[in-house]
Amino acid sequence: MATILAFANQKGGVGKTTSAINVAAALGLCSRRVLLIDADPQGNCTGGVGLSKNDGVSLYDVLVGTVPMSSAIQQTAFRNLWAVPSTMDLAGAELEIASRDHRESLLSAALLPVASAFDYVIIDCPPSLGLVTLNALVAADHVIVPMQCEYFALEGLSQLSFTIRNVRRTYNPRLEIAGVILTMFDGRLNLSHQVAREIRRHFEGKVFKNTVPRSVRLSEAPSHGKPICYYDRYSKGGLAYAEIAQEIIRRLEKGQSR
Ligand code: ATP
Ligand code: MG
Repeated sequence: MATILAFANQKGGVGKTTSAINVAAALGLCSRRVLLIDADPQGNCTGGVGLSKNDGVSLYDVLVGTVPMSSAIQQTAFRNLWAVPSTMDLAGAELEIASRDHRESLLSAALLPVASAFDYVIIDCPPSLGLVTLNALVAADHVIVPMQCEYFALEGLSQLSFTIRNVRRTYNPRLEIAGVILTMFDGRLNLSHQVAREIRRHFEGKVFKNTVPRSVRLSEAPSHGKPICYYDRYSKGGLAYAEIAQEIIRRLEKGQSR
């Protein structure tokens, strides 16, 4: 079965989507079969891997139950990488599914029949702790938390920790934080180093050794519909995400034979 990773942080603009796309593509280059699920109505993940966010079947149709997950999966142009696109409709899904039975486990149930076809499922969560994020956390084995090395990075973290604890208690006892990715790190700034130290202290051993530097190439890549490892593989950002993918493999596949 696939290892399911939710990239979550309810804070906006911290690098969830950039990390989800680039870790997914880097794992694909390491011969892992990866399904990337865009769970944000903004659809940035969808566009970032070169798919259209305006037409066709999307995660919305899967969550409201009109199509099975298998019909929403699209092959991307990248090695070992498939994706489920998102459309603006997804913004309305929370209301539509709010009154359903098992409304928090719709994504988990939809993934069951397809999960064995992949090594990793990566879910890019929206910047909220609403029902769509809850579905992602219920479906996931692990949470990856991208955090921007800025002054307020740790603010709001208690809400995320509280939500994770709640999900663990109520729906998904195996859920845990597998790693924290430090994003937009600027080595020239004292502040970046200070915040990184504080986050490492808070998360004791969970923070990935490699940090993602602030890099123009990373912010340009989505406008070309390409993950960084296809846009500029040897840029600082490209190398950082390749290393983080290796760290994920070492952490999560320990003891597994492949
Ligand atoms: P949202 O909460 O809106 O979903 P997010 O957490 O998914 O946002 P991203 O969309 O990945 O965050 O990043 C926010 C912005 O910062 C984007 O314009 C992205 O291109 C840019 N960005 C992300 N990481 C980096 C980086 N390491 N260097 C430079 N720019 C970056
Ligand atoms: Mg995003």
